[in-house]
Amino acid sequence: MSKTLFIGGTWQSAASGAEFDTFDPATGVAHARCADAGRPEVDEAVAAARAALDSPSWAGLTPPERAGILWRIGDLIDEHAEELAQLETLDQGQPIGIARMVSVGRTADHFRYYAGWVTKLYGETAPLSHPNVLQYTKREPVGVCALITPWNFPMLIASWKIAPALACGNTVIVKPAEQTPMTTVRLVQLCQEAGIPDGVVNLLTGGPETGRALVEHPGVDKVSFTGSTETGRAIVRASAGNLKRVSLELGGKAPSIVLPDADLDAAVEGCVQGGLFNSGQVCAAYSRFLVHRSLADEFAERCAKAVGQMRLGPGSAPGTDLGPLVSADHLAHVDALARSGVDEGATLLTGGSRADLPGYFFQPTVFTGVRDDMRIAREEIFGPVLTILTYDDEDEAIARANDTEYGLAAAVWTRDLAAAHRVAGAVHAGTVFINMPNPTDAAAPWGGFGASGWGNEMGSGALGLYTEVKSVWTSLA
Ligand code: ADP
Repeated sequence: MSKTLFIGGTWQSAASGAEFDTFDPATGVAHARCADAGRPEVDEAVAAARAALDSPSWAGLTPPERAGILWRIGDLIDEHAEELAQLETLDQGQPIGIARMVSVGRTADHFRYYAGWVTKLYGETAPLSHPNVLQYTKREPVGVCALITPWNFPMLIASWKIAPALACGNTVIVKPAEQTPMTTVRLVQLCQEAGIPDGVVNLLTGGPETGRALVEHPGVDKVSFTGSTETGRAIVRASAGNLKRVSLELGGKAPSIVLPDADLDAAVEGCVQGGLFNSGQVCAAYSRFLVHRSLADEFAERCAKAVGQMRLGPGSAPGTDLGPLVSADHLAHVDALARSGVDEGATLLTGGSRADLPGYFFQPTVFTGVRDDMRIAREEIFGPVLTILTYDDEDEAIARANDTEYGLAAAVWTRDLAAAHRVAGAVHAGTVFINMPNPTDAAAPWGGFGASGWGNEMGSGALGLYTEVKSVWTSLA
């Protein structure tokens, strides 16, 4: 029996005996089994997290002690870096270089970054109009937090949530995506090894039903979710019972606007990298290239050439640029959308179909002649499919970039400083990249406008997601 549930400090299997497989996307072969948590385990985890919230072993820690534990988690991630990277590549499919640098490296950064904040969670005093009154604010933990994560950067996105939640003194129940639970299991083992008290970090492996039970549970105070916009909407509805705090990082359809004076080499390289990183399985992936008509043919030709030189293969193979998609279901989704591009009249420059490899591979694909109303221009593909649209003037480019329900990220490519900031100001997106691809950093806020979500993760903003502000008034009379 798989003991991948961690509840109140004990590793256990599901009482029902239910389990599920997780697959190596490079081969399609199952490589591990996990317990499938049901309602009894959800109840148990919520009770354990609730009991730990006010326990002396957690609430009684001094800020430096709590910071020390978070810092130790970062150190343990470094000590196990290669093992974690290999596991992420096996479970998620990503090239090992991305697993090492981004999935493992940035996860350790997150724990250290928020370790630094533990000793700096200040309140404020305000100059009130009332005489003889002292007022101050405190930041208190929200309580029991359900952290529901997706399959594209499983361990890293878990750290976006676990690190600030713990820094602020909450207790958590982590529910990783059913496609990619294994590095989260390992990360929680490392949290235990670092000295996180029993019940403070709990882990429930399982699928959408497990997530739903957490979101509906009256004993959960907050949900932090990263995933699809559709599931985000379901979470908002389901969390209304006890009016949970909800933060959401959802889908995107990031425009990348190439102005006529752009450095074309940099724009092509950055757009291809920003569009195909992790095989396009990135919520901020550049997925609509809006290219000025004067550059469009040259841009498309160079994109197709750059994409044609990329090596598709298992993430563990040296020299792989593009790994597989995460699952058979997701491969079918990307394939269907690429076909819709052809059916709706876009011109396929390269790729467009599954690759002739075992596992869930899709060829890197470039479409030109894309219209705004095509599905490939409107829907989130989350795969290695680049779409090139042309425009004639800047205002038109901005209006079309903003003609989407999403607003997570955008890019602009230009040598003109004024134009760069004009466009950055006008696009409706939580993050704008000027002349660069689309990384994240623990210190920089990350969040979406519109249907891309609620709230900012990373940076100091995440502290607001995991604390309640209490205002205390005292009569000095
Ligand atoms: P995808 O459809 O690509 O798998 P989702 O956004 O549905 O993406 O899934 C992201 C995470 O949300 C996963 O951990 C999944 O198990 C969980 N999940 C799916 N549906 C629900 C739901 N209704 N309530 C809570 N969690 C859910």
